[in-house]
Amino acid sequence: MGKLLRDKNILVMGVANKWSIAWGIAQRFIKEDANIAYTYFGEKSRANLEKFLMEEGIENPALISCDVSRDEDIERAFEELKEKVGVLHGVVHSIAFADKDELQGYYYDTSREGYMTAQNISSYSLVAVSKHAKPLMNEGGGIITLSYLGAERAVKNYNVMGVAKAALEASVRYLAVDLGPENITVNSISAGPIKTTSAKGIRDFSSMLKVFEDASPMKRLVKTEEVANVALFLCSELGTGVTGENIHVDCGYHIAG
Ligand code: NAP
Repeated sequence: MGKLLRDKNILVMGVANKWSIAWGIAQRFIKEDANIAYTYFGEKSRANLEKFLMEEGIENPALISCDVSRDEDIERAFEELKEKVGVLHGVVHSIAFADKDELQGYYYDTSREGYMTAQNISSYSLVAVSKHAKPLMNEGGGIITLSYLGAERAVKNYNVMGVAKAALEASVRYLAVDLGPENITVNSISAGPIKTTSAKGIRDFSSMLKVFEDASPMKRLVKTEEVANVALFLCSELGTGVTGENIHVDCGYHIAG
């Protein structure tokens, strides 16, 4: 089999540093010859991306700033993307945010503002991104997002983010119905816990890792590379018949943990 993403233009959103799941996915896609454009949020993330891409030998990458909490920013980012790449064949949405204070204690203590922020950045952003990606994806393709088991179960301390992920997974199904006729698939990957900057914001994340390791059928943590392999499947010719799905890449924890 040749390179799975040759001649494919993919947008990767959410690389912050070398631990980011989005960076793991980008590295896997680079190996498959994808032409990747990136959106970044903070300037530190932009500097990291520049460094990583230089190390990968990629010259003049398309780096576009985008704060997904602002409609006008998403609109501008996609206009820039249209100029830079034209057609788009895939989108990796790997973005979430909740205030650290909301990721501990009782869920009923969630503030209205904290609830809205988590929904806005972690869930609604996929809706707005999909709307703007659609006209560029006129050759079909795949949109993926990252979720977590806290969408389906009450996971200690995950709180407001679990509720945002539940909305995100529901959005995936509605978007899959909307975009199916355009030959665009929409799926989520429910990844097991991985040590990243965002994850470290969840109180007692390290004990969560231990519980996961002990209870998962495979008795180990999932690797970012394994999440990236499934992302590749969903964004390539291999996954064209799969849409509206939430695929668990968690060493089986969700069936036994
Ligand atoms: P990460 O490296 O911290 O990635 C989160 C990204 O979201 C960062 O690049 C961050 O940008 C970006 N972001 C936050 N607010 C934004 C905004 N307003 N506009 C644009 N971008 C914004 O952590 P990660 O663990 O890889 O997270 C990626 C995705 O995987 C998230 O959806 C997360 O919920 C999901 N996930 C993670 C795990 C896990 O255990 N790590 C498990 C299942 C699912 P800045 O850093 O520049 O602010």
